Amino acid sequence: MSETERPILPAAVPPRRTRQARVRWAARDVTIGGDAPVRVQAMTNTDTVDAIGTAIQVKELAQAGAELVRITVNTPEAAEAVPYIREQLDRMGIDVPLIGDFHYNGHRLLTEYPAMAEALSKYRINPGNVGKGDKRDRQFAMMVEVAARLDKVVRIGVNWGSLDQELLAAMMDANAQRAEPWDAKSVMYQALVESALRSADDAREIGLNPDNIVISCKVSGVQDLITVYRALHARCDYALHLGLTEAGMGTKGTVASTAALAVLLQEGIGDTIRVSLTPQPGEPRTQEVVIALEILQALGLRSFNPSVTACPGCGRTTSETFQVLAKRIDDHLRAMMPRWRERYPGVENLKVAVMGCIVNGPGESKHADIGISLPGTGEAPAAPVFIDGAKAMTLRGEGIADEFHKIVEDYIERRFGRAEP
Ligand code: SF4
Repeated sequence: MSETERPILPAAVPPRRTRQARVRWAARDVTIGGDAPVRVQAMTNTDTVDAIGTAIQVKELAQAGAELVRITVNTPEAAEAVPYIREQLDRMGIDVPLIGDFHYNGHRLLTEYPAMAEALSKYRINPGNVGKGDKRDRQFAMMVEVAARLDKVVRIGVNWGSLDQELLAAMMDANAQRAEPWDAKSVMYQALVESALRSADDAREIGLNPDNIVISCKVSGVQDLITVYRALHARCDYALHLGLTEAGMGTKGTVASTAALAVLLQEGIGDTIRVSLTPQPGEPRTQEVVIALEILQALGLRSFNPSVTACPGCGRTTSETFQVLAKRIDDHLRAMMPRWRERYPGVENLKVAVMGCIVNGPGESKHADIGISLPGTGEAPAAPVFIDGAKAMTLRGEGIADEFHKIVEDYIERRFGRAEP
């Protein structure tokens, strides 16, 4: 059979084969790994001691779509605030599981503040920040023993900014003895993976259920992240948390995170994701969640919001009409989703097209559930509307935007509305 006779098959994400962890709070049970959907995680940037401020931000992140939210637990005061934060969230009906982020003093906090250890659903432990020398094993064991006793999930979160320096030094020395030493970067990659996997082995020996182990090895370079996670994926079956650490601000942070995560997710690598975006002044913390959802939805791995396909515009569009309409429809769909999720099951799969002229407008609109092809420069002032692939009507005049808005709402009601009991 020649190449031209072979069917061109759609790209497929290989099935993930990791162990499945369950992160629980009350009746909420968020599965991670195995055949569970890739989960979205976020982290607060409030002072945890400010329990009300932290609870409000956790609520905002959860309402934006975060399924797990991590908070810093760095002082006795922060540890004392955690049960209160949990209580506030429960009162608000926000059952998102909380993850505690521990460095340096986690062994003391987790053993001395049992209500905090109980209120958290998952602990993040950084093996590079557990302690030095013989203290390291003892302090690591203290944290893992709490997790094992309370049946909590632990993320062993290695970060190359805080990589275990003793391990790295030992591996560099061993490398120097090789007949043909590896380059320093390869040793660094190896040290990251080794740090995570040796810590996971230690945790299992201490008594942690292997299903309760999640691993991450965060680095800040796109190619480095891809390299390290491919190696991790090849060497273990733990659920993996993905994220490009210190991704940066704005467009740079968004693009770098998307580039790294998309490659790995497409290879079936990654069970939870976080976009570590530095918020721009005035930008809400929820932006990192919005981007994470968009990455998963763009890859076709999950659906969260109806999608609006809009053309970029060109010399054929000399007015902003279609840009304004596309934004208006997109904003409206996103704003309504918290209510529509309940009322219109499946509405997150809706596809709307708003196109700028006749060149691609009718074609793209027919591929969407509902689409409009606005008149480009020099075209007759008429906008055909396509519903379920067929031309349904043509809009004209000043009120095109309002009429299309109403047509979309009626379509949603008709297609996704539940019959009243
Ligand atoms: S659909 Fe028309 S207006 Fe939009 S980019 Fe293509 S040619 Fe330009």
